[in-house]
Amino acid sequence: MALQLSNTIKNYINGELIEPVGKKWLDNYNPATGEVYGQLPDSDEHDVNMAVSAAEEAFPAWSALSKLQRSDYLKKIADLILANLDELAMAESIDNGKPYWLAKKVDIPRAAENFSFFSTAILQWKDEANHMDGNYVNYTLHQPLGAVACISPWNLPLYLFTWKIAPALVTGNCVVAKPSEITPMTAFLLSQICIQAGLPKGVLNIVHGLGTKAGDALISHSNIQAISFTGGTKTGAYIAAKAAPIFKKLSLELGGKNPNIIFEDCDYDKMLSTTLRSSFENQGQICLCGSRILVQRSIYEKFKTDFVAAVKALKVGDPLQDDSKMGAIVSKQHYEKIVSCIQLAEDEGGVILCGGSPLQLDGRCAEGWFIAPTVIENLGPHCRTNQEEIFGPVVTLQAFDTEEEALALANASSYGLAATIWTTNMAKANRMAAGVESGIIWLNCWLVRDLRTPFGGMKNSGVGREGGVHALEFFTETKNICIPLH
Ligand code: NDP
Repeated sequence: MALQLSNTIKNYINGELIEPVGKKWLDNYNPATGEVYGQLPDSDEHDVNMAVSAAEEAFPAWSALSKLQRSDYLKKIADLILANLDELAMAESIDNGKPYWLAKKVDIPRAAENFSFFSTAILQWKDEANHMDGNYVNYTLHQPLGAVACISPWNLPLYLFTWKIAPALVTGNCVVAKPSEITPMTAFLLSQICIQAGLPKGVLNIVHGLGTKAGDALISHSNIQAISFTGGTKTGAYIAAKAAPIFKKLSLELGGKNPNIIFEDCDYDKMLSTTLRSSFENQGQICLCGSRILVQRSIYEKFKTDFVAAVKALKVGDPLQDDSKMGAIVSKQHYEKIVSCIQLAEDEGGVILCGGSPLQLDGRCAEGWFIAPTVIENLGPHCRTNQEEIFGPVVTLQAFDTEEEALALANASSYGLAATIWTTNMAKANRMAAGVESGIIWLNCWLVRDLRTPFGGMKNSGVGREGGVHALEFFTETKNICIPLH
């Protein structure tokens, strides 16, 4: 059955698509045209309370299913996502401003993979047993928590939303999820897919609305047992302050200011083409993008010339056109923030090597929010531009001489999410990887993801790890049971 591509989004509560209790709505924008193209619920605590109650009611039956039964539901959802690849990719592109080809190649297949991966991961997950001296054995149980909250941002809407929901569901929890109010459309389509897949009512509930209203009601709800959150560091700190005193389990995936460290002995061509992607894919709005490019001084001028030429050749255009390498910035507010960050960089003495300004496109995108990819040099490590997350198509260049200097520059940040290191000297690469304060390191590659690996940041980039067994553990309570064998 085809998805209903209605521009009026509804909440998905207790298995039904329903309007918000307060009958209040928010506008949904198409960033490529700047136009309002639909409405979404401006949900409040009444909607959240209904969703949490539905999740709690569904929990006993859902958690009592076998792992294989829950796995089958996830597989069905994965298959339906792939069966609706074109519609979902189009919806994601319109809602977010990202190129349609990118949503079709990366975002939507990955959302399906999140469900299919966890549908099998749960079947392979082993409990522990420890045989003790004195003839005792300890074994562990991993039990679901109950109703849990999943809150995700706008940059990879369906991809990050499902990255949380899939492990939560497969471990036997029932979920109340809130997508970003800025990009709600594919979450709405996912609710239709769950209905088509026959997911029992109340197992997944999706409440749309503002973070400060619906989101706040969700994290404050006393019957929510755990919060899995991806978003900004400030929001993460706020959620942690609210949730910690009531001992909710918390997983926080937060901002970054990732270093991309380039040594003179790198595979230059591979580094250059990958650095172009790691700087500007998804308009630089990926938490894993490298925004501080650190280059060994001996190749700094060559890199600068080649990189700037390649950046100037990147086509920023209508997200629906196949040759647009970059699309629109997600919202007017975020667009204005990025423009002000570029202004700040100039005020701090930064030299704009290319970009540096909004772009005015022709035709249907004339009123859209586009920014030229921007490269800045002449800024030290401690200025605001090199300290604060911009989360847009803006990178800085800094030169270093020695390995020690590269490490110091890389670690001169309050963030610690991801880093990329380019060198063909593997001893140096591994030394650097051990020294860089980031949860995720790519050596001579970028954004290669094995879903079994631990994913998350150090310092202000978050608390906890997602992925594979780490996500399964987060969404369960581990219980140890000790028995005498005599
Ligand atoms: P925000 O922190 O503004 O929002 C993230 C989500 O939290 C949204 O759904 C938002 O709702 C909701 N929210 C906001 N305030 C509250 C609140 N008080 N209580 C509960 N929920 C709330 O981040 P952005 O959406 O702007 O996303 C960009 C950020 O996400 C960047 O910092 C980026 O680095 C980070 N990020 C981190 C990743 C990681 O894995 N570490 C991956 C991707 C992004 P609404 O949008 O409706 O306000």
